[in-house]
Amino acid sequence: MSLKLCQGPDCHTYTTKDRLKGTKGNKTYQTRRRSNLYYGNSNFCDQRCMYDWVNQYIEQGLDHFGRTTEPKHLTEDNAWVKQYNWDRGYENRSHVYLNKKTKEQRPITEEQFEDNNYTLNTN
Ligand SMILES: [Zn+2]
Repeated sequence: MSLKLCQGPDCHTYTTKDRLKGTKGNKTYQTRRRSNLYYGNSNFCDQRCMYDWVNQYIEQGLDHFGRTTEPKHLTEDNAWVKQYNWDRGYENRSHVYLNKKTKEQRPITEEQFEDNNYTLNTN
């Protein structure tokens, strides 16, 4: 089993017991390693480490990938989002594509809902 390292730049500076690793007399505080990390798309051990990274790299990231320079407008064409609705007893979910502009709903399957590549042909 390979362990993932937290990508927080200051993870090792938070002196919690679980970060103290090594042989007796030679222990150091170290970056957390886990089989699974639950923050920031599985890259960070907690929110503090995630925001440390964001604070350090956000300007570079925005410059690199491009900043929003004009307001975006919600239109009929770009207003489709996937959503699920619970039934009255909160036992079953039904999945839909919802147009947040027109409120139109189109049923989709759970498989289509989970598929990040699936998009509705709205034309
Ligand atoms: Zn961390």
